[in-house]
Amino acid sequence: MNLEDNYGRKHDYLRISITDRCNLRCIYCMGEDGIKLLDHNDILTYEEITGFVEVLAPLGLRRLRITGGEPLVRKGVENLIGSLSKISGIEDIALTTNGELLGPMLDKLMDNGLKRVNISLDSLKPELYKRITRVGSLENVLKGINSALIKGLTPIKINVVLMAGINDGEIYDFLKLTLDDPIHVRFIEYMPLDGHDQMWSKRYLPLNAVKEKAAALGFRLNPEEGIVGNGTAETWRIHGAQGTIGFINPVSCHFCSSCTRLRLTADGKFKPCLYWQEEINIRGALKNPLTLQSLIKQGLSLKHEKHQMNTQTQGSEQGYVRSMAQIGG
Ligand code: SAM
Ligand code: SF4
Repeated sequence: MNLEDNYGRKHDYLRISITDRCNLRCIYCMGEDGIKLLDHNDILTYEEITGFVEVLAPLGLRRLRITGGEPLVRKGVENLIGSLSKISGIEDIALTTNGELLGPMLDKLMDNGLKRVNISLDSLKPELYKRITRVGSLENVLKGINSALIKGLTPIKINVVLMAGINDGEIYDFLKLTLDDPIHVRFIEYMPLDGHDQMWSKRYLPLNAVKEKAAALGFRLNPEEGIVGNGTAETWRIHGAQGTIGFINPVSCHFCSSCTRLRLTADGKFKPCLYWQEEINIRGALKNPLTLQSLIKQGLSLKHEKHQMNTQTQGSEQGYVRSMAQIGG
């Protein structure tokens, strides 16, 4: 058995959500009061997560990303990274974080095998950052990025969700970040995942806006190949820059045919696609590798050819109405 689906896609990448809790309340991800949280007892233990990866690694799983919610709010995340990095076949462990707690935790994360970090940062202006995250402090995130640069956890990826009339005035500042440091800025299209249709229709901006802006500013963008973990990002480099610019445009442009991602939610649901509702509860099978393998096979067979984010009305039967914090971003 391997991790191939009905469309010939061989999956080698798993995004593991370790919590649905978060210390921020980003406006595109959740409401002011947060989301309805899972019961603590429903959340997979670190041993269960490790056991799941141990079954997938011999089937071709190579790369892991720890996410959430905010993964750094869950105690002992460094121990999980330590256990995962010892599994034979696992070559790369990365983390997606809002960066608020990153600086002081970097040493122990890196000592335990963390190889790469993606930091979500949608504004470089303190007040706008606060408005977008509702409670965050830009200073903490910048300190985290700085520590990561100093300690050599590079290249660092910065995820920017582009929103019309909110942070699209900062395209130039984000492009400039890539000039002098090994920082990969990845612009992400705002996805209609959380059922907040009105905000999405008002704020969604296709990423062509960034390319047009870069050209208008006189930046020459050259296509870039071979950035680790860039499966779904189209990557460019400003002539002479140390870092690169990525475009993740799930809404305006399908990258489903090259998708090799699988997901495990914090409460033990195996999800072949971020968008579609299909998921399989694997928790009960964790003690039985053969049953688990057959559930994984079943999950892979449920993977659709492509999502319908760009054509489906949100809130309909098939479209997804949970936030990224609930699914695992
Ligand atoms: N809390 C961590 C963080 O913010 O990096 C990890 C989880 S968060 C759900 C993962 C990523 O999903 C972040 O980069 C965030 O910007 C992105 N995200 C959340 N909701 C989104 C949406 N509706 N459209 C596009 N990206 C979204
Ligand atoms: Fe929290 Fe990340 Fe969602 Fe922001 S995007 S609210 S940091 S889970």
